[in-house]
Amino acid sequence: MDKNTICTIQEDADRLWWSRDPVLDGHPKRIRRFVARNTAIGPKSLGGLGNMSWKDHVIAYSYRAEWMNRYIHPAEAKWKEVLDAMLLKNKKGELKFGAGRGIFFCALTPAQKLRLLRNLPRKAHYLRACMYDHWSLQIKQNLTMTDGIKGEPLWESARYKINCDWKSRTYFINVTRVTIMTDIINRETNKPHTREGWRDWIETLHNEKVGRVKGFKKLTNRELSAKATMMEQVVSQIPQQIINEITQPDQYSPKPGDTVAMVHHEDGDEEGDAFYGIYTDTPAHGARVRLTVIDTVSKEHLTNKYKVAAGQYDIHEVALWKGKRKGDWRVIGPKNTTFPQPKGWHMKGNVEIKLDEYRINAVTKTITKVKFDPPTATEQAWQSRLNWVINFVKVWKMKSFFLTPRDSITWLKIQHRNLFTASRNDQTNGICRACGWTQENQLHLARCRIIKCYFWDKVLQLIEAVGDEIPGTASEHTEYILLGRVSDTDHTGPIGAGILALAWRALYAETVSAHIDKHNVDSGRALKRLADLLKERLVAYGEKWQSWCNVHVHTTKQSTIPLKYQERGVISQDIMGHYTINPEIQKWKDAI
Ligand SMILES: [Zn+2]
Repeated sequence: MDKNTICTIQEDADRLWWSRDPVLDGHPKRIRRFVARNTAIGPKSLGGLGNMSWKDHVIAYSYRAEWMNRYIHPAEAKWKEVLDAMLLKNKKGELKFGAGRGIFFCALTPAQKLRLLRNLPRKAHYLRACMYDHWSLQIKQNLTMTDGIKGEPLWESARYKINCDWKSRTYFINVTRVTIMTDIINRETNKPHTREGWRDWIETLHNEKVGRVKGFKKLTNRELSAKATMMEQVVSQIPQQIINEITQPDQYSPKPGDTVAMVHHEDGDEEGDAFYGIYTDTPAHGARVRLTVIDTVSKEHLTNKYKVAAGQYDIHEVALWKGKRKGDWRVIGPKNTTFPQPKGWHMKGNVEIKLDEYRINAVTKTITKVKFDPPTATEQAWQSRLNWVINFVKVWKMKSFFLTPRDSITWLKIQHRNLFTASRNDQTNGICRACGWTQENQLHLARCRIIKCYFWDKVLQLIEAVGDEIPGTASEHTEYILLGRVSDTDHTGPIGAGILALAWRALYAETVSAHIDKHNVDSGRALKRLADLLKERLVAYGEKWQSWCNVHVHTTKQSTIPLKYQERGVISQDIMGHYTINPEIQKWKDAI
């Protein structure tokens, strides 16, 4: 999907979300949001609106960024081989990098990225977009973890930079096959190879190619010495601390049930020589490994063959890739030769991730989290106008169980200090049409003597009548009405929150019509509207659960209302879903 399409869809989505009467005509139109874009995308519990940014989602969702994770997934696939050929090899078929597919998880310079993409067909726009989306996630290695350091790439390490020309690099990677950290260590001395060691190694591997590969001539003594010296120089650029880490002995003691790799002492360096299996340790047979076969998608299958876990084999820990289903583990390889490993990564915003648990939703959430602007300014603006300390964490967490989304909007706008009132309206004189004296702003709607006395006090009576807590003193009423604060420690629960939201909706409708039709605010009408709305919502709530219970009635799958949801102040239900609306509500309405 191209950028234009993504933006058009995002625009329509915004319009559907924010406009009262959305028209999707494709003509750009200004949308009035009552919460800033980057605040609205955040979670509700932090003052956002849970408004998903589709644009961010599609970057993750269209699999674009995720393709690079699939690329390093241990399962084999033809498309990966095609990518290997296009990305990892140069025109002569030599490897460009030592890191293999893991190159996408290395700290690459712009020049290295260009080198990586050089042979990618010019029209492969989608693939290119996948890679840039992947890079835009800024996935970085957690360098404090040294768990898998032995298998990390030598040339493209995030831990240090190697200064060496491309030609020599390519030679050492392809001919000498020096690609990972442990390749520089002599297994007998457990120290980096000496110049003589490099000389022997280079000579042996070079001569293997002479006569077989075009253009390979026997090296002269001088050329050989030069190459050995150069390799020695490369190693000298690696910090001593890292040499110390990679020469640490493996400290792995397998537990029964672990998947392990068995590598023959002598040809441990050669790939493909590892046996895999499940470690067992029984008194009858001692420590042994029940061998498994790894299939093309890297799943293990048990065989009936065993090998004794001793003698000429070293037992190595295995890096596993967690699949989407429970119990689905894929074998990547012995831990000390595998890169990248699932654990030990950060992405943008310093969020910890595991490569194998990296899923679309998680990525969207993370992108959102980074962009999210908490409504701090709003919180401060409210606080500076009020007498009591407000715990905004509790404000943003308020929830009700019987409201429609539209019901909660007026109060939500109040909480976000964005309700459009007369004082902001050029078409009116801005004076409150209840008291006829003060400018009608958001604070005033809660504090106005007339509205407070004839409307809010009645609302508070109703909330008390259905058994919910209201503030102990009248001096705390403003904070309760505006933001639901009950006391220093308590915040209103779902019942009070529901009634307050409906009250704000009813009151706002009344003040707006008072300004339009130029009459005084009729509190009685607003209260009646509140009573009607409340009753309607409670009936809808009761009926919903009633029919939910009825679906499986007389069957073994009988659905019943859990005890803690049976008594909810405004409405009570029995276990079978028969409901009664609290009669206090009708009494209250009659008394208006
Ligand atoms: Zn007033």
